[in-house]
Amino acid sequence: MQQVVIIGSGPAGLTAAIYAARANLAPLLIEGLQAGGQLTTTTEVENYPGFERGIQGPELMKVMRAQAERFGTEFLTGDVSAVDLGRKPFAITVEGERRIETKTVIVATGASAIHIGLPNESRLTGHGVSTCATCDGFFFRGKELIVVGGGDSAMEEANFLTKFATKVSVVHRRDKLRASKIMQDRAMKNEKIAFVWNSVVEDILGDQVVTGVRLRNVVTGTTTRLPCAGVFVAIGHSPNTGLFKGQLEMDAKGYILTTAGTATNVAGVFAAGDVQDARYRQAITAAGSGCMAAIDAERFLEALGA
Ligand code: NAP
Repeated sequence: MQQVVIIGSGPAGLTAAIYAARANLAPLLIEGLQAGGQLTTTTEVENYPGFERGIQGPELMKVMRAQAERFGTEFLTGDVSAVDLGRKPFAITVEGERRIETKTVIVATGASAIHIGLPNESRLTGHGVSTCATCDGFFFRGKELIVVGGGDSAMEEANFLTKFATKVSVVHRRDKLRASKIMQDRAMKNEKIAFVWNSVVEDILGDQVVTGVRLRNVVTGTTTRLPCAGVFVAIGHSPNTGLFKGQLEMDAKGYILTTAGTATNVAGVFAAGDVQDARYRQAITAAGSGCMAAIDAERFLEALGA
């Protein structure tokens, strides 16, 4: 019987593990097959406090994991195949066979950026293709960029990128934006932002790094090339919450709803990081909520007299 099981090994899960381990709760952290989460697919992280000169995403996750391990976190590698939160203790099945019982669960399964789905998009990720302007915008000073999408994220990313880029073209598949009026207005007023309407990215061009995109106008069918040094894909994120459907309360997009810190609708189950945050989605905010979840779990166990 575990006191705390943490599902997910990004900054939220690992920070929860550091705090739970230091509170003598001997946490078990189940890391999925892509251990380390989204940061393992980024390059340099320059905005995580404590690293004056920046740190590579995979390296940051490695040291965070080592820190959690140092205080006695136990790690189990494998995908969780089922959870039963309707019974006490909670039951978690890993890879369809190993069954674990626990008094508390911290859900830190994160979110995944939605991709366009082009072969060159995955090949050039980290080499000009990005899903995070806050993370990677800085590397494109003086360059021309494109942002794909027409929602608030796309507007926010486009505006942010104009701090560095000489020009940002927003490529949207319709002729109307989905973004809120205020975000639209801000983008429309920005002289560095241009809009390419009714268009989809058909291919991302470049050998070692991105050099441009091939666009197709969905109304006329014509294709054009647009040179650029970077492609920021902002067509939404999807929380990794399939396992918890029907057990934890979620919003319309599947993000877990939390109240009073990190508490979910099931007492003893806490959620931290991107799985419950569609808004900030930063490593540091995920780590902060991981810390909160561990403290919440510790207090819950204390109240149980465990
Ligand atoms: P979103 O609102 O779902 O918008 C996604 C956009 O990408 C839409 O314009 C959509 O086109 C387009 N899209 C989707 N799939 C595509 C594909 N395969 N190819 C090309 N285009 C595609 O997602 P989001 O912008 O990430 O926002 C998510 C939530 O967070 C929203 O509720 C938003 O308000 C909120 N948010 C708020 C802020 C803020 O207030 N500061 C900032 C960011 C996000 P269609 O329009 O044609 O469907």
